[in-house]
This record gives sequence, C-alpha cells and structure tokens, in this order.
Amino acid sequence: MVFWPGVVVATPAHSGVGATLTYRSELFLTPGTLVRVPLGAREVLGVVWECPTEPPEGLTEAQTKPVAGVLEGLPPLNARWQQLVRFAAQYYQRSLGEVALAALPPQLRDLSAEQLARRLKKKKKQKEAGVDATTPVDTGTGGHDLSDEQAEALQALEAAQTPVLLYGATGSGKTEVYLQATLHVLQSHAEAQVLVMVPEINLTPQLEARFRERFEPLFGAGALVCLHSGMTPAQRLSGWLAAHTGQARIVLGTRMAVLASLPGLRLIVVDEEHDPSYKSQEGARYSARDLAVYRAKVETEALAVEGVHAPRCRVVLGSATPSLETWHAADQGRYLRLAMPARIGGGALPRLRLVDMNHQPKGAVLAPPLVAAMSERIARGEQCMVLLNRRGYAPVLACHDCGWKSACPHCSAFRVFHKLDRTLRCHHCGFTERVPRACPDCGNLDIAPVGRGTEQLEEHLASLLVDVKRPDGGPARVARMDADSTRLKGSLEQQLATMHSGEVDVLVGTQMIAKGHDFRRITLVAAINADSGLFASDYRAPERLFALLMQAGGRAGRDAAFVTEQGSASELWVQTWTPAHPLFAALRQHDFPAFAAQQLEEREGAGMPPYGYQALLRADARTQQAAQAYLNAAAQAAEGLPHRDAITLYPAVPLTIQRVANVERAQLLVEATSRGALQRFLNAWQPLLLACRSLPEARGLVRFAVDVDPLVI
Ligand code: ADP
Ligand code: ZN
Ligand code: ZN
Repeated sequence: MVFWPGVVVATPAHSGVGATLTYRSELFLTPGTLVRVPLGAREVLGVVWECPTEPPEGLTEAQTKPVAGVLEGLPPLNARWQQLVRFAAQYYQRSLGEVALAALPPQLRDLSAEQLARRLKKKKKQKEAGVDATTPVDTGTGGHDLSDEQAEALQALEAAQTPVLLYGATGSGKTEVYLQATLHVLQSHAEAQVLVMVPEINLTPQLEARFRERFEPLFGAGALVCLHSGMTPAQRLSGWLAAHTGQARIVLGTRMAVLASLPGLRLIVVDEEHDPSYKSQEGARYSARDLAVYRAKVETEALAVEGVHAPRCRVVLGSATPSLETWHAADQGRYLRLAMPARIGGGALPRLRLVDMNHQPKGAVLAPPLVAAMSERIARGEQCMVLLNRRGYAPVLACHDCGWKSACPHCSAFRVFHKLDRTLRCHHCGFTERVPRACPDCGNLDIAPVGRGTEQLEEHLASLLVDVKRPDGGPARVARMDADSTRLKGSLEQQLATMHSGEVDVLVGTQMIAKGHDFRRITLVAAINADSGLFASDYRAPERLFALLMQAGGRAGRDAAFVTEQGSASELWVQTWTPAHPLFAALRQHDFPAFAAQQLEEREGAGMPPYGYQALLRADARTQQAAQAYLNAAAQAAEGLPHRDAITLYPAVPLTIQRVANVERAQLLVEATSRGALQRFLNAWQPLLLACRSLPEARGLVRFAVDVDPLVI
C-alpha cells in the first residue's frame, strides 16, 4: 500500500508554496511525525501534517518523491499542537511550515539518527532516575502559608471555567500563587506539565531560582527546563526534548515557549501579561499571550472527551497593570478577574511625589528636592533607584559651530554617544565608530553631547551625592544597569547581587531595573524623564507609561518590616512637564481600574483596540517611493474583495524611523469593526499581496509583512 503524506517544511513566508508538500511512503506515518524529505537538491526537516491513502487530485507517482527518513524514537507531535500551529499560521497570515518549523529547536535539523537516539536514551534514563512524581509529597515544602487573599485566588483559579486574570499589586504574592497552582497540577497527574511564561528570563534570575528550589527536590533535577532565545542550540534541543518526552514537568520560557511541544499541558501561566515582549516583532508576529489563551482552550477541549469531571488546562494571566485587552475581556466576563490588592506583609504602595519640572531651576536634570530626599535615605541606609529610558551618555553629539550632528549614515536616526568606550553607536543598525576628535564637517574641536542617557546620569548623580555618607561612614555608591552594563555573561547577576547585598546605594538604569526584582531595601524610586512617552503619537503610550511607573514603584517598600523600622514611607518620584495629565491622578491613587476605564472610554470613542481590530501591512524597500507604491498597489488590488466594505484602509505612510540599515520602511493600517471580518479580508488579500510584488511600481521592494493586532502603529 502507498501513502501520500502531506509534509510541512520551513518555507519562507509568502513564498507561495502551498500549505503542505506531498511525498510518498510505504508506511503509514502518524500526523505529527518528524521526517526528512527531499526538497530541490537538499534534504530538509519536515512535519507530517496528514497521511491519506489517496494522492491529491492530479498528482501522479512520478511527480512525487519518497520520504527520505523518519526521526526514529521521537514520538509524533500531537494533534493539539498541530491545531495550535494551524491556528497561529492562519491568524497571523504566515505559512504553516514557517510556524511549525520555527517551533522546533534548530538543531533537530542537523542531528544524525545516531545522535538523536543517544540524546533520547539519555532523556529516558534521566526520567527514570527522577523522583517518582506520584509519591505523595509534603505540600508545605518550601512554600509559604498563603495569605487569605492568596488562598482565595488560588481556589478560585482552580475552579475557574474561563481564562483567569490574576490582578495583583506588585509584591502581592502572585508568584507564590503560581508556585502553589503548579504544585497542585503536578501532583494531580504523573504526566501533567506546566508552562510558565515570563517576558525575559535573564532579567529575573530570582524567579527561575524560586521555581527550581521549590520543585527540583520534589520532582527531580530535570523537572524544570528553560526555553528562550538566549540558550545555545544544544541547550534548546535538550530543553525541547525534555518537554516533548514529558521528562520536564515545568517549562519556564519566553514567548517562544508557547509553541513548545507539551503533551501533558494542564496549566499555563503568563506572568506580566501586559509586557510588549510577548508580541513577536519579526517572522510570524504572534502574541504569545493570546496564543496561550487559545492553547489552553484546545487542550481543555481535548480533555473534555474524558467526561464531565475531566480536568482542564487552565491559563492564568498575571499583572499589576493588565493590558487593556485583557482588562476589557475581564469586564465582559470572558475572563475571570481575581484581585489581590494587598501587599504581602501589609506594606503600603509608594506615595507619589510629582515634580513639576516647569518650576525647577533651568537645566536641572534632577530636581533639588529629589536629590535632597535621596541623600536623606542613603544616610539612613536605604536604597534608591533612578529610571531613565535611554542608554548611553547622550543621544546626540553635535557641533555648535556648523550644526553637524551624529547622524547614522544608514538610518534616519542619530548615533548615540557612549562615553565609556568613546564610540558613536546606532541603536537601530548597530553601526559603530570611534568618536571623532573634531567635527567631521568643519574641524571644530568643541563637539558636545546633547541630552542625557544613563551613563551621564550615573556620572551626574555620583557628583551630586559626593558628600553624602552611608550609615557606615562610607561614601554613597552609584551603579548603573542597562543593556550595555549587562552585556557580558554573568554581569547582570553580579550587578543584582551588589544591589541585594547593599553594596550599592543608588541604582541607575533603563526599564530593565523596573522589572520583577525583589529588592528588599529600596524605599525611593524616581523616574526622570517619564514624559517622553506621553508625547509619542502612539495611542498606547499612556498605557505603557502607567505600567512602567507602577512596576517601577513596585520595587520600593517591598519589605514592610524594613520600612516600618526605618520610620519612613516609600516614595515614587516622577519628574514631569505635564503634571495635570489624568494618568498621574490615577497613579497617585494606585488606581489602575480608574485609569483603565478612562483609557477604554477613549479607545471606544475612537474605535481603537479592543473595540476595533487592526492589522498593518508593512513594506521594506530600497526607496521610500517603492515601499509606498507597493502598499498603494496592494490597497488598489483590495477593491472588490469580499468583505471590503467592512474594512478601512488608510493611506501608506513612512514609519517614524523611516530608514534603518539603508532600507526604507512604510506601512498601511487596516481597520475593521470585527475580528472575523478582518480575518476573512486578510485571507482573501494574501494572494494579491504576493501578486503585487511583481508589479513594475513595486520594483525595489525588499519584503512585505502583515502584522495582525500590532502593538505599535
Ligand atoms: P509578586 O509576584 O506579586 O510581585 P511575590 O510572589 O514575589 O509577589 O511575593 C513578594 C514577596 O513576598 C516575596 O519575597 C515572597 O517570597 C513573599 N511572599 C509571597 N507570599 C507569601 C506568603 N504567603 N507569606 C509570606 N511571604 C510571602
Ligand atoms: Zn562643525
Ligand atoms: Zn543606523
């Protein structure tokens, strides 16, 4: 008998290759089986998508090639995983093969049969050596006794019939709830697995440590694996195999982990669910948070076959400042909202101190009252944190004689002055040069930095605090943490350690310092240049700023006992030029619901998400003209498409940073009043987008991409 497996391979998106390629096989291949197949002159990795006994119409034996080999010993990917991939590909307008293969560890492609067999054998041994998961364990191990609020939330989430929004203040003990929910799931079934997603693992080594400490003693050393893009190919393969074979019970990962194979999946946690890093900005531009919700639904439906008391796969989205999409879903009752307003230990959230920069001495980077407040706190042995969302020494270097500026020759942006290694670096394309000794245009020696970055702020603060003494009589110490200072492996951990140990008094940094860290002695957090976000044209700017400030403020006063002992309240200082902005009134009250309600009302009035549905068609080309011409042609081609009436197509416009690495960028906004209409329209449009590439006016087009539910427009 002959079978005709349809196989998906990593076709570049939009290559026009159909969903599956048909091959021949003597054996039935279960859908989900990993195979090697010939493609042109190469042999590539593929996933069997279906395996019919009849060839597709019109296809003859002579036109097909046999499957070259099966990856032996690897269980097929299951039907739920296939359904997830199919959905993601369709919803985000990419090819099935691209999404499916991107979800697999790259090294799987290069492994010989023997190498794979060896790896699998090792995994099996490890699994057998692991602690027997069905052994009853002492549930108290390492865990805290839950507060009433936590216990109620845990109980409610375990009974929930919908996705859950865990809306808990910073320091309210959300992580502890995740830990105990995880424990219960793992104990409920020997094969059960939990997926915990975080925006960035490297930034919060504490979280990984907490999960390891809690679960490795119970379920064995291999019970937890990480999956994120910072791992080596070998580590990624190992983690993926552990998850796929069920050896790993917990996968802790970034957005890519949402597509991992997890045959026993029963719980998905999306921590800091509002974080923009859950939305991929390249390739298939998926939202890992939204896919997590979909995935839990698919898993639950599959489990429901087992009967009325069938277990569910739950999904918990956690945040102190949920995304407005999630908040709205909870308002509508589609998600269950569980609130944990109180901080563990009863500590108060920091008091807001708004500094009106219009009334400060001209040119002051830090308002004098802020410097005074910091000095007092340092003298008492407390720590401060200062946030500035711009790394480097200064965003621009300029010549005051002739007006030369440190523009990047490849981008429509300035290169940033980094004083420490005396370079000018483009943060968009990476182009780096040594700082010129004199103005390249007029030879003037007096070229000067304009504006301030974290490097300069660190220097400036050290000079402002030079006379301030710590309780031990030593001088105040300032440190900086940003993408530059943490580039070397291990440097982030080391910098966090100096903060935890109290060696450092003031930590200066980008938003990286605001995330998740459980610092115990910080009592003052300051945001220096918070306004910059508010003037952006992006309609999500206030939402992002509110989340950032709440999260930054959440680093202060985490240890209530320490704060009480010190006899001072913790504070969040915000320097602003627009103190009357309604955002600050809500921030003062720590009133996220009020802020969300006000923002949602605005969005509803303007038909913006979550009340309207959007997609972007983006074009990269050698000239701006070609990019826009392609977009306009695509818009023209859309006339007459079914559902066109339900769609608004806006004119093509250049991106804010129009040119990056010598590529001109433009985009066109697509809006619809319903998700279904948007999806149907995009599906019908896709072949026309491909066809428009070969129009004469689109000459010079490098690539196009559709971004569904874009975060930045
Ligand atoms: P969140 O994730 O909401 O910011 P965490 O789970 O990190 O909060 O909890 C904040 C701090 O409180 C942590 O140091 C944690 O160990 C501690 N903690 C959490 N729950 C409890 C509890 N029930 N009893 C005592 N301490 C707790
Ligand atoms: Zn000059
Ligand atoms: Zn550049």
